Amino acid sequence: MSTQSSFLIPPANDGICHIAPYQPGKPIDELKRELGLDDVIKLASNENPLGCSPQAKAAIQQAIDEVGRYPDGNGFALKQQISQQFGVEMNQITLGNGSNDILELVARTFVAAQDEVIYSQHAFAVYALATQAVGAIGVEVPAKNFGHDLVAMANAVTDKTRVIFIANPNNPTGTWFEESEFSQFMQLIPQHVLVVLDEAYVEYFPENFNSLKFLTQYPNLLISRTLSKAFGLASLRVGFGLASVEVTNLLNRVRQPFNVSSFALAAAVAALKDTDFIEQSRELNKQGMAQLEQGFAKLGLHWIASRANFIAVDVQRDGGQVFNALLKKGVIVRPVGGGYAMPQHIRVSIGLPEENARFLETLAQVLAEIPATEAA
Ligand SMILES: *Cc1c(COP(=O)(O)O)cnc(C)c1O
Repeated sequence: MSTQSSFLIPPANDGICHIAPYQPGKPIDELKRELGLDDVIKLASNENPLGCSPQAKAAIQQAIDEVGRYPDGNGFALKQQISQQFGVEMNQITLGNGSNDILELVARTFVAAQDEVIYSQHAFAVYALATQAVGAIGVEVPAKNFGHDLVAMANAVTDKTRVIFIANPNNPTGTWFEESEFSQFMQLIPQHVLVVLDEAYVEYFPENFNSLKFLTQYPNLLISRTLSKAFGLASLRVGFGLASVEVTNLLNRVRQPFNVSSFALAAAVAALKDTDFIEQSRELNKQGMAQLEQGFAKLGLHWIASRANFIAVDVQRDGGQVFNALLKKGVIVRPVGGGYAMPQHIRVSIGLPEENARFLETLAQVLAEIPATEAA
């Protein structure tokens, strides 16, 4: 217990002492306060720059009157909507306080201390956190061109493996894999291993592939979705897992009975129904992606091709330094050194056209101020 202070507090669980806390994107108001700046833009947390569907907002307002009551612990209306929209049974759905909650539920339900959990290098940080929190052993498989090496991940499975976390597309790299690769991967995974396919950004490039049909074939598959990204409900915290009835039953034993608020439930139903809003968000994202790619090309920078609502770009300098210089000019992005081990990349979320333009201009200024590191 070397990491404990001299205060007499009970010892924490083993894995907990080794956790580096998740670093959230810097809030706009915090930066405004710190710098005395008025004009701050945040392209750091992959939020929808359009906000959310107006119908979702109306649903929240309507739910206000019932604020004194507990939410529907079974989330009936939301499960019904999900069931209809995605062609799954209601008893295959687990609702989460954000999809983060689903990832943690999986770890708490299926993984014990000393078990193994597999995820990729450069993968979403929460996989390692959820693993450590239950005292399990994280097995990080080297990435291939910044993306998941699914074959190597399947080869890393042992008798002790309980869960494999994969993200398609992945955050913070934006990398993706194809249906044929996923299909081959699933065939290699033994039944004692639960595969968690995290599709937080699936709405942006639905042409990638439809993963839902794999649910009927694989009782050891869980698909995780969120309302935080394309649906624009990040602050409400709502996501869901789709899996076999057996897996779902187990997750629901661990789930807090009221883990999704009435506002989140009501807004999520309305947001899912508003397919026009998603269409519009997708279109804006495609344009913004092209805008950023053109800007990077002009600056002579390489980026990682992305199928999400963000891009990781190699700034040919220390990413943390570039991040800080951008911050001082009122532009919040995300450094991806540290736990993500991409020290020369920054991740930028795709914003409104004027936000993307301001980011590119500011980036050009910053790159002119900071000399590039020598190529190795
Ligand atoms: C943002 C994100 C999530 C979690 O979002 P929630 O707000 O908790 O639903 C999950 N997975 C990935 C890969 C993400 O980028």
